[in-house]
Amino acid sequence: MKQGKIIVLSAPSGCGKSTIIHDLIEGHGALPLEFSVSATNRAPRTGEVDGVSYHFLTTEAFRDAVAQDKFVEWEEVYPGRYYGTLRSEIDSKTAAGRNVILDIDVKGALNVKRLYGDAALILFVQPPSVAELRRRLEHRATDAPEVIDQRVAKAEYELSFAPQFDRCVVNDCLRQAVDETRAIVSRFLDA
Ligand code: 5GP
Repeated sequence: MKQGKIIVLSAPSGCGKSTIIHDLIEGHGALPLEFSVSATNRAPRTGEVDGVSYHFLTTEAFRDAVAQDKFVEWEEVYPGRYYGTLRSEIDSKTAAGRNVILDIDVKGALNVKRLYGDAALILFVQPPSVAELRRRLEHRATDAPEVIDQRVAKAEYELSFAPQFDRCVVNDCLRQAVDETRAIVSRFLDA
């Protein structure tokens, strides 16, 4: 049986990554992809469902999972906030010929590429510019000004990793970014 493939999408917050992933899995012309549900010790947000959005773990349970080597990769993405890709989300699915898509941070993406090589495609979704990203975050009006400053600073740091990715997609117009990403992923799955 043909081994399933691994697609990773990384992006600074506010770049439309979750919308793109959702569209690839469920939208018009959806691709055969299953979402890899990460584990995290952060609290669920309103509307998030355990086992669907994330596997929500206590910090102790997360550390136990690390000690038991249950993660393909894990990172402290924010201080005290851990996120990790469980082996159980990837290996059994790809062995059964199913493709998985991961929404993880830039360092996690590069680790997945190191581990899986040609079986993985890592994509970076970037804003047209840092100024435009700031404008979008301000327009969204969900964050306080200092939080926006932090997000923009983090985005600048994350953008410095873009050249190490297999492909970059600029999200200027969401519709086009979705179509471009779908075409790239579709080619990779067919190869
Ligand atoms: P949020 O708390 O907003 O859901 O996610 C915060 C960040 O953690 C996002 O950039 C997301 O891509 C990243 N993330 C989610 N799951 C994982 C994971 O399993 N591994 C890594 N390295 N990052 C993750």
